[in-house]
Amino acid sequence: MSEPRTLIKGGTVLTLDPAHGNHHQADVLIEGSKIAAVGPDLEAGDAEVVDAANTVVMPGFVDSHRHLWEGILRNIGTDVPLEGEVSYLAFILNTLAPVYRPEDAYIGDLISCYGALDAGITTILDWSHIQATPDHTEAVIKALGDSGIRAVFAYGNPWWKAPEPDQDEWFRTAASSHFSSKDQLLTLGYAPPGPEFTPFEVSEAQWNLAREVDARITVHVGVGTFGRNDKVGEMARAGLLGDDTTYIHCTTLNDDEVQAIVDTGGTVSLAVPVEMMMGHGMPPTQRFLDRGLSPSLSVDVETNVPSDMFTQMRTVISLQHVMCFDQKFAGAETFPDQITSRDVIRWATVEGARANGLDHKTGTLTPGKEADVIMLRTDRINVMPVNDPIGAVVWGMDTSNVDSVWVAGVAKKRDGKLVGVDLDRLASEAAAARDYVVSTSGFQLPQI
Ligand SMILES: [Zn+2]
Repeated sequence: MSEPRTLIKGGTVLTLDPAHGNHHQADVLIEGSKIAAVGPDLEAGDAEVVDAANTVVMPGFVDSHRHLWEGILRNIGTDVPLEGEVSYLAFILNTLAPVYRPEDAYIGDLISCYGALDAGITTILDWSHIQATPDHTEAVIKALGDSGIRAVFAYGNPWWKAPEPDQDEWFRTAASSHFSSKDQLLTLGYAPPGPEFTPFEVSEAQWNLAREVDARITVHVGVGTFGRNDKVGEMARAGLLGDDTTYIHCTTLNDDEVQAIVDTGGTVSLAVPVEMMMGHGMPPTQRFLDRGLSPSLSVDVETNVPSDMFTQMRTVISLQHVMCFDQKFAGAETFPDQITSRDVIRWATVEGARANGLDHKTGTLTPGKEADVIMLRTDRINVMPVNDPIGAVVWGMDTSNVDSVWVAGVAKKRDGKLVGVDLDRLASEAAAARDYVVSTSGFQLPQI
């Protein structure tokens, strides 16, 4: 039997691949899980035809770092900073996380996956530091699989306590039982606390563990006041930095540390809205751009910020612009070029794919890659008439424009609605898990 074919016909197609260009009107042909062709007037044959008139067709967005288990804690901490007595670290990681059961982690992950898919995110890295037991690990891997999103499951030890004696073995078991193939929607990462939160010897052992099981490393560094002690520098001098590592935030690193990340081929994940609102430090966008490295973007915590990449793109570009103009107004003779919509739409797609180790599979609409495709409506009151499709995606659209989403050729959202998701059931399960976690932990929900 031949593979199912879908022809997305007559849209404005942004492949974001310089070799294939962008087209005011073209088709995208999906065969099985892959993009078979992109171009004008493709033959439909026996394919299901999807009318893409009045839409932008582009690669799905990629989120390079999010703590999905926090999905049931959405917007619970919008007025608290990262550090301090009343803070994200105190409430989320040290009060609420410790009481999570596997089923709470499951529903947190699942609701976060569906929120991502609804927003046009087709690939996500789950930075999952909720692994209190092997049952927690099984639960979140099941949630990622049940959602149908493309995901990197990045195994993280529980943040609120020392790892269990068997913790590393649990990770190895998860790696061998679920990730023996890289040719699947779920791939493996390792999420160590990092050198700012563990002694050097522990970090060194964790870096070696990740490399032993062939998992990419994803690590928070330069985090607020924790990031000012040259700990990344220490890792660099020990020869531990490599191109298999994504560095998150990097807000308070020194220049030598930033340079070492660039020199060793590292990738960067910026969560600019979170970094600005929670006090991680100044987002280091320009410091990496000056050294030739473009960042990926990430939602990080839904306890504070929304689950979409439109917010991410607009925040990072706005901040970079105000910093350029500020230097200009201050009389600087030279100041950086302003980044453009064309830059940030790539950061939200192909740079995310690169940071997740998946740029050979996703991030552009390149024939031969996996069919992770989104269709954004241009006939909506918030963007009509469209004069610059890329400008409209970056500056005009929001999640209400996300009409259709395919992951590996499978429709996950059509006609503005998630496919096969019982929202009422999901809502009641999420509320029940939230109620359990909040009441058991003794956490007080914010007053209104
Ligand atoms: Zn994070």
